[in-house]
Amino acid sequence: MEKFDIIIRPNKSGADQNPYFYVPCMVKAEPERDIYEMFNVPKDIRKRSTWLCFKFRFLPPHLMNHLIASLSRKYTVAEVIDSKKKKRQIALFKGTTVFELQHETTKLRKLLVMTCPNVIQIQVWEFGEDIKSGLYKYIADFVTEELNTVMHTRFKMSNVKFEKTWECGLTEPKCVTGSNKFMEEPITEYQCDTCQIKHMFIDEWSDQQYKAPTLPQISGKAQHVPGSSSCIENTSQIVQVLVKTVSEESPRKCSRREFSKEEINFTKMGIIVLNILADALYDLLKQDKPNLRPRSDFDITNLYSEHRKLNKHIPSNSWGGTWQTIQNTDIAIGDDIERIRLTRNELLHSETFVLGDTRFKELCSIIDDLLQRFDHHNKPKKLYTDELNDILAKTISDEDMKSVKKEILEISVVVKGNPQTNAPTP
Ligand SMILES: [Zn+2]
Repeated sequence: MEKFDIIIRPNKSGADQNPYFYVPCMVKAEPERDIYEMFNVPKDIRKRSTWLCFKFRFLPPHLMNHLIASLSRKYTVAEVIDSKKKKRQIALFKGTTVFELQHETTKLRKLLVMTCPNVIQIQVWEFGEDIKSGLYKYIADFVTEELNTVMHTRFKMSNVKFEKTWECGLTEPKCVTGSNKFMEEPITEYQCDTCQIKHMFIDEWSDQQYKAPTLPQISGKAQHVPGSSSCIENTSQIVQVLVKTVSEESPRKCSRREFSKEEINFTKMGIIVLNILADALYDLLKQDKPNLRPRSDFDITNLYSEHRKLNKHIPSNSWGGTWQTIQNTDIAIGDDIERIRLTRNELLHSETFVLGDTRFKELCSIIDDLLQRFDHHNKPKKLYTDELNDILAKTISDEDMKSVKKEILEISVVVKGNPQTNAPTP
């Protein structure tokens, strides 16, 4: 049950000698009084962060429990003393949980996590220093990644999507709707709907550095636009530099509002290559190497290398050919391994992360054919061709786009240091 997040072993010293567990789906009690009163949180925007909202069209009922479980593995659930009953209780209530983000003893920074019908909303309370720009990027990143992992990897809920929005931290939890979108244009201040006064925009969830403050014209909410492009993630210098190149070429394309057809094509092809094609190579390898390390230890590049080293499924025209050397009639498993490498290379060589419609359709047709052969050969539990159709039908989010770019960039760095896996390409 621990594995499935039904019960949680708390992240606390001493728990090993005297184990106890939380069962988040069994928690029915709402907080008895105002959560801010319970923890004596100052009503001050230097101490209460803006709300970071994860807005869903449909919020799967157990997703919040999984998030609470993920957070509990990393942080301690906060405790509060009930002065009337004179007892200590943990701040794990129905739809409301508070974590200690800092030292378990100093307790100067806490995280409030709440759900409303279609929103998971988080806020940080600061009892020490004042809130600064970028201070909570690590939490925003952690929650985003955990939600994506649960949704896409563990439960394959490919249709579930969220949008990140924000709202003034002095808005009552129940009134939070996440009405403000994160935009790419920077702002430094805004007129607050809740307080009806002007606030400085601190941008604590992001670490973007602004150029010059300009206000974009957004209907109705012009004052409420923060200064960050959340589709750019500074996970590494390489990502930063290359994503910057993209956004300079086409500054509008990096917005979350709409993607070009070519960007969507690229992202879908990336998901197909990094997941389905890599799975097919892994499942094939597993038949020849029974004690193979888990799938998560491999990416498409080292899977190709393994097959080449093993030299069992030899391509009709030997290893490392080009599209021109593979005939349509070459349908040996080795030929398909080469087709997978060539498809991967086309993505790696794209410097702008776009894929034209004609080429996208050609590649889809090649991949559909080879996956039918792999379906027949590997007999996977879920057919690769079904997986392919799922991805082709999927709506691409900017999280998808970000993670594909990131993985492609990581692979291209590895490949450049290992010419064998990148052997001649057109
Ligand atoms: Zn306000």
